[in-house]
Amino acid sequence: MSELSDLYQEVILEHNKNPRNFREIADADKTADGNNPLCGDALRVYVSMEDDKVKDVAFKGSGCAISKASASMMTQAVKGKTKEEADVLFKEFREMVMGEMDADEQENSLGKLKIFAGVREFPARVKCASLSWHTVHAALNDEESASTE
Ligand code: ZN
Repeated sequence: MSELSDLYQEVILEHNKNPRNFREIADADKTADGNNPLCGDALRVYVSMEDDKVKDVAFKGSGCAISKASASMMTQAVKGKTKEEADVLFKEFREMVMGEMDADEQENSLGKLKIFAGVREFPARVKCASLSWHTVHAALNDEESASTE
């Protein structure tokens, strides 16, 4: 278990220091703003579509290390997926961090994202980890904003 939490810390720190797809997309097809007032995390997600696929996805904003690392890994996971596949990931990620699904026992497509399973022990952090997912879900469903409240 301590091995897992070392890996978790390492990945969070690395993505926080060097977030992937941390930029604006000037001609994005969809954007949404996400806010987690509890922690002060605020980010904007940009999505470019090609047919039904996410051609490009990026984010900008500020927040704690967990929210930023989660957003960074969210963009990596969602890029190239169809809206339907992205919705499945959103649902699975949410269920995992809420403790409604055991990602090691139940079949899922989370892959590397399973590293966030440990946040279910910390209710305040669940919102940090899931903010970018709520926000990309809002963008893909043509909603302008998402809040963890
Ligand atoms: Zn946070």
